[in-house]
Amino acid sequence: MKEFDVCVIGSGMAGITSACLLAQKGMRVGLLEQNWIPGGCTSAYPRKGYIFETGATTLVGLDPHMPLKYLIDQTGVKIKSRKLEIPMSVYLKDGRKIIRHQNLEAWIKEAEQIFGNKNQRKFWEDCFKVSQFVWETSLKQKMFPPSRFSDLLHAAKNVNLQQFQFAKYAFISMKDFLSKYELLENQTFVDFINEQLLITAQNHMEEVNVLFGATALCYTNYSNYYVDGGLINLVNPFIDYLQEKNGELQLRTEVTSIEKNENGYQIYTKKEGEYRCKYLISAIPINNTLPLFKNGTLKKVKEKILGSKSLNSAFQMGIAFKNSNPAPIIHHQIHLETPLNQVGAKSIFLSLNHPEDTSRSQESGISVASVSCHIADPENNYIHHKEKVEKEIIHKLESLDFLQKENIVYQHSSTAKSWQKWTKRAFGFVGGYPQYMHIKPWQMNDARLDQDKAYICGDTTYPGQGIPGATLSGIIAVEKLTRDHL
Ligand SMILES: Cc1cc2nc3c(=O)[nH]c(=O)nc-3n(C[C@H](O)[C@H](O)[C@H](O)COP(=O)(O)OP(=O)(O)OC[C@H]3O[C@@H](n4cnc5c(N)ncnc54)[C@H](O)[C@@H]3O)c2cc1C
Repeated sequence: MKEFDVCVIGSGMAGITSACLLAQKGMRVGLLEQNWIPGGCTSAYPRKGYIFETGATTLVGLDPHMPLKYLIDQTGVKIKSRKLEIPMSVYLKDGRKIIRHQNLEAWIKEAEQIFGNKNQRKFWEDCFKVSQFVWETSLKQKMFPPSRFSDLLHAAKNVNLQQFQFAKYAFISMKDFLSKYELLENQTFVDFINEQLLITAQNHMEEVNVLFGATALCYTNYSNYYVDGGLINLVNPFIDYLQEKNGELQLRTEVTSIEKNENGYQIYTKKEGEYRCKYLISAIPINNTLPLFKNGTLKKVKEKILGSKSLNSAFQMGIAFKNSNPAPIIHHQIHLETPLNQVGAKSIFLSLNHPEDTSRSQESGISVASVSCHIADPENNYIHHKEKVEKEIIHKLESLDFLQKENIVYQHSSTAKSWQKWTKRAFGFVGGYPQYMHIKPWQMNDARLDQDKAYICGDTTYPGQGIPGATLSGIIAVEKLTRDHL
């Protein structure tokens, strides 16, 4: 039996964040990970001499007021990253290409050229203002969502007039926001917004509130980064930090059940024996956390669980291909004329290695790509013929001149089943809990798990999706634990 002050289950970005922040406070942390490498959906793995990203490929959050910057400032960890000149390009159904410039003015000009002059400027300026507000507020309200009177007191201390002004946006959907600017009749723009929201907020404009949606749409207007060798090199420096602070990463350690007793928590694992700790952080999805606790300990949490029909998984391809002329833009969203066979996705997302990063292939002149798209309702949507989906994706990439079939040196693909195996996430759902209008920000899953010494973070708890969301959830879990007990 091993003992730690705190055990963190899951070494994705949420678990890593909370583990490092607790280690920084002097606690002895055990980070328990079922996989053979850390990072979960933010990682990279070697296959046939190439390094493929596991899930996430785009990286924001290193600007001031953003979660990763906070984590880096608190720990002093250094991340070697490259800032991208152009965060992304988008190919519309009709073949037109849009450059998502970081500079707001340049982006508005581009949007006006493609979608027409009508109200584009006003729409994007207002979205950007909301996004600035959200980023500046999120780290000031580290006890959000409030579940105790003391959280409200803390919120009140940090509240300002602006927060009241912007709160109304939690009640307005992005669809109504577009309607306000008379942009709903612009079908090309509506399609663009819906597909962009799907990759950032995991849902379409009817279901995404303006606070979240405007911030999600503007993520290309903040600095975007690339990490050489894949996002495992974002994760590893934090693991090194944890170990320097006397913490331990236990790989291949799958937690199978948790018992609460008067001294804290007893954790049972599949092969690696038992662990004992005073505090616990579950950094795995709430769907996976619930069955670990016996005797109905988490009755209240059960009510907030979303099922497969409300969630997504991903179809993902890794492709290595000969490429003598790599493009300077590495991220591309490609909208499809007809939804992808079997999968149903209306767009695919292509990410290439940075042209100057030669570490992802043993041979020179090779580009390494990840292509992903959403699979709705993963429990009931089994992909029977994945080779057909691969073929369709490659055909599309060929038609846009990204690659030629005969230059492909290696390819493979994964579905919900593979995600279930890699992350153990229930029925292989990934990308976090999507935004839904009936769930207001303050009704999202709280970090306090059992109202005692167990907490939860990750992309199924506030504030939700992506690396910035998972990182912020880890920061909030530690803040709540610290204020409640330390
Ligand atoms: C295809 C794809 C593309 C994406 N693209 C982007 C992007 O471009 N940018 C972006 O910011 N975000 C992106 N995301 C979202 C982002 O990757 C995730 O939201 C984020 O990484 C989730 O982090 P997490 O810590 O909440 O969960 P996870 O990364 O899932 O981490 C949970 C960890 O817990 C481990 N675990 C599970 N059960 C147990 C158990 N019982 N015992 C021990 N360990 C366990 C898992 O192995 C895993 O390592 C993408 C996701 C996917 C799938």
